[in-house]
This record gives sequence, C-alpha cells and structure tokens, in this order.
Amino acid sequence: MTVRVRFAPSPTGMFHVGGARSALQNWIYAKQQGGVFVLRIEDTDAARNKPEWTEGILSALDWIGIERGGYEGPYFQSEYAGEHRAAAARLHGSGRAYYCDCTREAVQARTGSQYQGYDGFCRDRGLPAGEGRALRFRTPDEGETVVVDLIRGEPTFENKLIEDFVIARGDGSPVFLLANVVDDMTMGITHVIRAEEHLPNTPKQQLLWEALGVKPPIWAHVPVVVNEKRQKLSKRRDKVALEAFRDEGYLAAAMRNYLMLLGWAPSGDREIVEWSVIEQEYRLEAVNPSPAFFDEKKLRAFNGEYIRALPVEEFVEACRPWLTGTGTIAPPPWQPEEFDADAFAAVAPLAQTRIALLSEIVPNVDFLFLAAPLIDEAAWAKAMKEGSAELLDAATAAFEALESWDAETLKSTLEAVGAERGLKLGKAQAPVRVAVTGRTVGLPLFESLEVLGRERTLSRLRAARVRLF
Ligand code: GLU
Repeated sequence: MTVRVRFAPSPTGMFHVGGARSALQNWIYAKQQGGVFVLRIEDTDAARNKPEWTEGILSALDWIGIERGGYEGPYFQSEYAGEHRAAAARLHGSGRAYYCDCTREAVQARTGSQYQGYDGFCRDRGLPAGEGRALRFRTPDEGETVVVDLIRGEPTFENKLIEDFVIARGDGSPVFLLANVVDDMTMGITHVIRAEEHLPNTPKQQLLWEALGVKPPIWAHVPVVVNEKRQKLSKRRDKVALEAFRDEGYLAAAMRNYLMLLGWAPSGDREIVEWSVIEQEYRLEAVNPSPAFFDEKKLRAFNGEYIRALPVEEFVEACRPWLTGTGTIAPPPWQPEEFDADAFAAVAPLAQTRIALLSEIVPNVDFLFLAAPLIDEAAWAKAMKEGSAELLDAATAAFEALESWDAETLKSTLEAVGAERGLKLGKAQAPVRVAVTGRTVGLPLFESLEVLGRERTLSRLRAARVRLF
C-alpha cells in the first residue's frame, strides 16, 4: 500500500506557522514512507475564502521547502461538490442518515439544555428530503470508536455519547466534516496528519468512513502551538503568519528546523541540524503530545546562527530583497541608484556576524547609501558631550592629513587624537560614529569609514561640527 498523506489548509487568511509545521510533518512522513504528499485547498467556506490566500499558501509552502511540482495537487474541495452530495445520498439510502426538521429551539425545549446534543427525535420519523431539512448521521447506540493515532495511541470514544450530527444542511449542502472525509476517500488518503483541534471530529469522521464502507485512515493529531502564556497561538493576538516571519528576514532553513523542534528533538545534544538529518530521524510517534511553546526569542537566536553559517556570497544574495525592497518587503530608505553593491559586499562580512534577522541589515548599512546619515537624536545626545566639538575638529584635521585611507591607519589616528585629550578609544569613537552613521551602535567604525571613503567621511564630520554650534 502506498502511503498517501495530505495537507488540507483553508484559504481564510495568512499562512499560520502551525500550518507550516503540519505541512512539514506530512511532507517528511511521505518522504520517509516512500509515499505521496497531496495538497488540497479546502475552499468550501465561500464567505471566508479568497483566491489570493490560496496563492499565499502555495508560495509560503514553496518558501518553506514544499515546492510546486514536488507534490500532487493542488486539488480544490469546491470541485468535489458532486462527490460530497453523492456520499450524503448514499448514507441516506443505506439508512445511515435521516432527515430532520427540528429547530434548535425545539431541541432545547425538549432536552431542557442548550448544551445537550441532538436528542434523536427524528430518527425514526422517516421524513423525506425537503427544504430546510438537515440530514443527520445515525450514530451507533452501542460500542466504541477507537481511533488509531500515531501520536496519541488509541483515543477511544463511546458511541452513545456521540450525537446524531448533521452531515448536510437544510439547503442540501454537505458540511465540512463530511466533505473532508469524502475528499480524503476520493484522494486515497491513508494517513491524516493534522492539528489537534480536529481530534474531537475524528470519531465522527471515522464513523463516516466506516458507514461509507472504506477502511479509515491512520490518524496523527499534532499538538497545538502556544505562546509564552500557554495560550494557543492566535492570529488576532500573536504573530503567527509565516509571511511575516519571512518578511522580517527569517531564513526558511532556520524556520523549518525550528518548527520541527516543537515537541521533538534529534539525536545527540543538538538542535541545529541539516534538514536531511530531520528527514531521517524525525518520528511522528516520538512527538510529545502536550502543547509546544513557540519561542520567538529562540527562533531568532537560531536564525542568527543560520545567518552566520551562510557562505558570504549567499549572505549577500539573501540580503538583496531588504536592500532593494522587492515584493512584500518595505523599500529601504535610500534611492535605488544610491545603492552600491561593491560597498555592500565590502561590509557584508562585518554585518553577517551582527544581525539575527536579514531585515536588520538596513539600519546597519544605510549610512553607506544615503547622502546624509539618518541621525538618531537620542544617540546624538548621548554621544555628543562637552569636548566633542574639539575632538571632532582634531579628528577631522588628522584624517584630512592622512595619506592612506584604511581602517588600521584611521584607528591609530583617532587613538592618538583621543589620547591627547585623555580619552580611551571607545570614548573618542562615539562622537565620530554618530556624526558619520547617525547611530551609537553599528558595524566596526574604522572599516565603515574605509568603505565610506575620505570625502564623505570628512564632509559628515564637518556637518556634525556645524550642527554642534
Ligand atoms: N481545512 C482544515 C483546516 O484548515 C483541515 C482539516 C484537516 O486537516 O482534516 O483546519
């Protein structure tokens, strides 16, 4: 039997990191089993679906490493409406489903509670189909439904506690629960790996598989991802969109490594590992069933390590979208023609060790491409002390006189200027740095001045001097 898994997102918003994790888990499982990964877009909730979200899903999957062409699909749930209706009709025909005209109020009045499920009033009334009549599944009165779950063992549900649930609405349209089962059946799915929130649906869905005469799949319900307060990550409260992480400059490799560590660890005392190691060692059966904490601080630290490990040419290439502002990434503060690729390449190795997100490249190098630095007023106030004006004058004069404009000479020159005033190098650097770059922190100063060049350095020192009057 060929293993066939599916990832079945609904195109209702940005792509959730929890979804990315489920997709990767399916992807790895298919790979390990020599199986097939199917992508199905569950687009039947017309009120909430938008076509652009589908494109967003496809490109987010591409980014994380599940590339178009490497999987079967995408299929669209909406194209299988005929199959969904046919299955509902079969269930009715075989007596496994019946029509019901009870209103919610009538059920509540009979059961005396709004929390009670359906009481089975129409079970044996033999109502024919009709406008406003829902189709309910007749759940067994006895026995239990045992779900085989790779992560959770064998969760067992007593059938008598499962209400006769609706499978098609009063207007005849099948509900999601049924559509999802029918699609899995149609697509020959053998393993359903999905979020824990669907676990309560699973006994109902398994009953549908059985009633339709097909062997149910093996299930795996992946634990929820939570924030530091142990609340389920929600798009209203937390940053959850994979696209947001991508646009901040998280590397796909770091992101997918981190996502796989939620509730699982590779062998040995290591966390940062090649994707091939994860593909080899990952075991769904070993995933911890309790909620997993999505720790952005840790992810950020991971990303910094991944950035530092890049060959410098790849780092330069990876920074490009932030330097040019392509796609959904905000444009940098300089004009395209002000950008100088050679100057960037010269400072890239210095920046590579200092940033944890690719977007942080911009404030580190903007001084190189802007006609005048963006002065951070707080940094200015902090760096410009009594005596700074004289120090800038002396540094300007000493720099002007230099024959060679290189980091080492610039450093020894400023060191000497500082020493004459009883200042250590750090103190002497501060006003120069803020005059030239606008900030108190950044890339190593003298290398920066070397790349910026004599003319621009001197004119910025003079401009700062004027500003100090
Ligand atoms: N479309 C459902 C969701 O996005 C997935 C259901 C499933 O995986 O079975 O939550």
